[in-house]
Amino acid sequence: MKEEIVQHAPDCLFCRIVAGKIPSRIVYQDEELFVFHDIHPWAPVHFLMIPKVHIPSMAHVGVEHAGLLGRMMALAPRLALQEGCNPYPGGGFRILSNTGAEGGQEVHHLHIHVMGGPRPWLKG
Ligand code: 5GP
Ligand code: ZN
Repeated sequence: MKEEIVQHAPDCLFCRIVAGKIPSRIVYQDEELFVFHDIHPWAPVHFLMIPKVHIPSMAHVGVEHAGLLGRMMALAPRLALQEGCNPYPGGGFRILSNTGAEGGQEVHHLHIHVMGGPRPWLKG
């Protein structure tokens, strides 16, 4: 069952990070998107890309979000290089979006993990 999408959820960790109530190492932000380093990185480069609006997960995405998701995907390669991922094809990066309990999602505000840098990694 889809929950209603609200602008900001007061109890959501990532909404609190977007609002600056919890500090984070910011990589990038604009009107729609917020990008920050993961607090427990799996890889030498590991940041999270989120919409500022509270969308609980990828399972809540519809055609109305195509532009937003497209912007996130288009921004990922540029920020990956900026944050130290090596260039394709020798380098590259991994994009991951855990969705729901069986998908391994822990924070219920849509986020895309971007990971890269020299191997070995802690996970993934
Ligand atoms: P999920 O398992 O939901 O895909 O990933 C949630 C991610 O959020 C985890 O990789 C975790 O390390 C990260 N995370 C959890 N709490 C915080 C926090 O307070 N600050 C930051 N920067 N990352 C967090
Ligand atoms: Zn949220």
